[in-house]
Amino acid sequence: MDNGKRVALVTGSTSGIGLSIASKLAAIGYNVAINSFEPESEIGDAPGTIAPDGNVCVRYFQADLADPKRAYDLVGEVVAAFGRLDVLVNNAGIQKVAPIEEFPPEDWDRIRAISLDSAFHTIRAALPGMAGRGWGRIINIASAHGLRASPFKSAYVATKHGVVGLTKTVALETAEKGITVNAICPGYVWTPLVAKQVADQAKVHGLSEADVVREIMLAPQPTRQFVQPEEVAELAAYLCGDMARSITGSAISIDGGWTAK
Ligand code: NAD
Repeated sequence: MDNGKRVALVTGSTSGIGLSIASKLAAIGYNVAINSFEPESEIGDAPGTIAPDGNVCVRYFQADLADPKRAYDLVGEVVAAFGRLDVLVNNAGIQKVAPIEEFPPEDWDRIRAISLDSAFHTIRAALPGMAGRGWGRIINIASAHGLRASPFKSAYVATKHGVVGLTKTVALETAEKGITVNAICPGYVWTPLVAKQVADQAKVHGLSEADVVREIMLAPQPTRQFVQPEEVAELAAYLCGDMARSITGSAISIDGGWTAK
């Protein structure tokens, strides 16, 4: 279906930051493709909450982005359904907290595959269509951990630094094609991904779960507050606008001052 509206694909958008970005882009008039690895029967009412008034089209695309072929094919499926793809938000990501000697190699591979490799594959698939129309927006959700390290997060930190590098490289390759490519680098945002790591952080740091929130998560953020998913979504929406056409190759922090230190 092509109703003339621009189309955005947000990977990993049944929860947290991705769901907020999908909701914001739908609210400003994009048709939105949402994605997760789960069957549609298990994602709840995400499409309904994203576009309650039905002014835009929201469709779910199941794809496990740990699989390179599914990541590449996802873009083709969205284009086949909507007729075009104008905005690609590479957001899907997972976390694992463990000392490197105990870090399971399969978790290293999976974290890198879902956050970094999948962005390579979706970008590869999306660029020809964007270049053909002379307009495109690619937003990669990196992290403050794309710019700074923390102990016990080797795979995540390495992956997110890789996402920032990929962003800069593709921005240079597309600079004359009307396409911008940027990374957003949030500090701690209270989402299921963060809630799930509190227990693991407590174990490796030898702290209570309350102390993990206070001393590990909020200590690096001078504001001492979690970033809200909606704040990240507003920034993503700004980057999609025509007034953001000169912002490309940037790693934009939204981290309560973390990386100012
Ligand atoms: P979340 O757990 O709430 O959401 C992650 C989403 O990714 C879900 O929709 C999940 O279904 C999807 N997903 C997971 N594995 C997938 C797979 N194999 N294939 C397809 N989809 C998959 O997490 P979040 O906190 O909203 O994180 C979103 C992104 O933001 C991640 O890349 C994360 O690294 C990044 N980030 C989060 C924070 C934070 O503090 N929450 C900070 C910086 C960066």
